[in-house]
Amino acid sequence: MPHRMETESRKLLGRLREALAADNEGQARLDAVVGLIADSMGAEVCSIYLFRDAETLELCATRGLQAEAVHQTRMRLGEGLVGRVAKERQVVNTADAPAAKGFRYMPETGEERFASFCGVPIQRLGEVLGVLVVQSKDGREYTPDEVYALEIVAMVIAEMTELGAFVGEGAALSARHQQSVMLRGSVAQEGASEGVVFLHEPRVVVTNPISDDPERERARLNDAINQLRSGVDEMLTGSGSVDEAQTQVLEAYRMFANSSSWLRRMEADVENGLSAEAAVEKEQSHARARMSKSKDPYLRERLHDLDDLSNRLLRILTGQGAAARADMPDNPILVARNIGPGELLEYGKKIKGIVLEEGSVGSHATIVARAWAIPLIINARGVTREALNGDPILVDGEQGIAHLRPDETVQAAFQDKLAMQTRAQERYASIRDLPATAKCGTTISLQMNAGLIADLPSLAGSGAEGVGLFRTELQFLVRNQMPRRAELSALYSRVLKAADGKRVAFRTLDIGSDKVLPYMKPNDEPNPAMGWRAIRVGLDKPGVLRMQLQALLRAANGQPLDVMFPFITQINEYRSARAEMDKAIARETKLGHPLPSALRVGAMLETPSLAFAPDVFFEEVDFISIGGNDLKQFFFAADRENERVRRRYDTLDISFLSFIERVVKRCALSGTPLSFCGEDAGRPVEALCLAALGIRTLSMRPASIGPVKHLLRRVDLNEVKSVMDEAIANGDQSVRRAVSDWLVYQV
Ligand code: PEP
Ligand code: MG
Repeated sequence: MPHRMETESRKLLGRLREALAADNEGQARLDAVVGLIADSMGAEVCSIYLFRDAETLELCATRGLQAEAVHQTRMRLGEGLVGRVAKERQVVNTADAPAAKGFRYMPETGEERFASFCGVPIQRLGEVLGVLVVQSKDGREYTPDEVYALEIVAMVIAEMTELGAFVGEGAALSARHQQSVMLRGSVAQEGASEGVVFLHEPRVVVTNPISDDPERERARLNDAINQLRSGVDEMLTGSGSVDEAQTQVLEAYRMFANSSSWLRRMEADVENGLSAEAAVEKEQSHARARMSKSKDPYLRERLHDLDDLSNRLLRILTGQGAAARADMPDNPILVARNIGPGELLEYGKKIKGIVLEEGSVGSHATIVARAWAIPLIINARGVTREALNGDPILVDGEQGIAHLRPDETVQAAFQDKLAMQTRAQERYASIRDLPATAKCGTTISLQMNAGLIADLPSLAGSGAEGVGLFRTELQFLVRNQMPRRAELSALYSRVLKAADGKRVAFRTLDIGSDKVLPYMKPNDEPNPAMGWRAIRVGLDKPGVLRMQLQALLRAANGQPLDVMFPFITQINEYRSARAEMDKAIARETKLGHPLPSALRVGAMLETPSLAFAPDVFFEEVDFISIGGNDLKQFFFAADRENERVRRRYDTLDISFLSFIERVVKRCALSGTPLSFCGEDAGRPVEALCLAALGIRTLSMRPASIGPVKHLLRRVDLNEVKSVMDEAIANGDQSVRRAVSDWLVYQV
């Protein structure tokens, strides 16, 4: 940056600081700011637009446009050049504004007289708060140095907005963070909890975006980087007691902390006059802008690691978040845009609930939260913008709703819900060691779904009879490289040891769809859920499947073993997969290794086609487990990941139930053991209906076993079946209503 611009920027910032410090109303401050910028840049117009709601920008101050337009001129996000800057989070700099893409003529502002336009987003840590615009009559593009200076000024405005420097009348200038808000997201881990907001990224305020002393800033940056790196190393060495797979995740994280290109870019910013904090924030904002645009889940996870590291660095530099962990309140509810598994592990189980702005059901952090049974809501848009440290918050992990700063009515209703839950937990504990025997005498085997070593303590705690579904891909997902056979076999034998003789049904790798391995090239498929996934990958590239089967056989070490293949669509797929198992057995026999005392090889029924397989399939297969999550999405053609449609069709829809009944009958004819292991198995009313249709094994999250058993023990399944039949005879679309009404008088 040339010397002249450097000093101009510094002078302007000095004056801005004075104007902001003056004892003024928010509006007067804004007016002073636009005047200062216009004068300093030699621009005829300088305006500030701020959001009045999530979709609408409002002109809040101007020097050069018609004064009457202030608080009158508004545009939607994406509308006009100003809306475009906000939407794209990018600078628009043009010498001929009327000819630029998106230009909208607004007569009330008188702006058609101005040819040049330069708008920069006013953003703070990736959140756009508004737009800063300068305009001139002469048709010229603003120089890169001028744009750079504007970006720095916009950063200061963003910090001051956050601090409440511009609070005044009207929605656009209203104080942030005071109303009670209900935020809707999706459920990643069920449960309910009440507590106070604990922000993962304490709102770090960068008060010194510019520095006169690049030498000093570089030294500060390097110091902070060194602290960051040793912190990550400590996390790794300190993680000895946690799951080995979690350590692998931390390794990937360390790789980023040591990235030299990341440091080089920040050093260049410091060289150009930014303070160390501002340089980190600039990198972080860019990473977030990329993250919001990227559809590639792998890249998003990596960008998220970078974001996570930037936060740590900012906290080290400013010292503002240093006490954050020590200051963790009682009953902390962690609120974050997203969170890396490393950070979550570091916070530990003290966290009572988590609400994420982004996140995904298959992310590493979700896996950890599930293992710890911490209620987790993901995709709660706006939560990081709205929540302040210490705000009261209620997490309803059944509905996927967070109530921020709840009013008294909501608070009271939630208290009732919590009290009911506690009473229910006590009831469930009292029947933990009793069988799930219905009044008619039929006993249902309730088993649990798992995927991490950390899940296994629940086997004893929940009263589960075994693990009906062990999702082996989780072990692959939390690593940064393909695990080796010896590692896998050690892990599976730990699982079997922890199960202590109870059944564990290991499902072979189900990758593809939403589960992308970090170390495998993602396939750009238009429809990944129906694409190259699960057993399709296993059969086309059998190396991993073979390794996994061998690891399982070795882990069994002469004990019984249950293995099932995911996403079997046809008999031939089952036969080919089973042939791989036969080959693995032959290999193990040749090597003189002990074989399982009993081996059962099953198939997951997750596509309707398998229900219509030839009789011989039902005779050949050792057991079938219905993967209801996938089956339902293909039965109703409704994407299980798509919020708009995923709840649209009821599991208790009579078409779906009659389909399940058909599978039950076919299995009964061939004597094939049948279980159901989708999420619906853990919903009490659904579980009841599945049992009434003849399913005798249900596998679910550990926390669902109590509620399901409680209900099962109180009903006669023949009566449930009659109620269902009656609803069908009445032409109901779903049996839910009839069964729920009937239940009211039973329990
Ligand atoms: C299912 O599809 O129901 C299932 C149990 O498998 P996943 O949820 O892992 O796809
Ligand atoms: Mg599935």
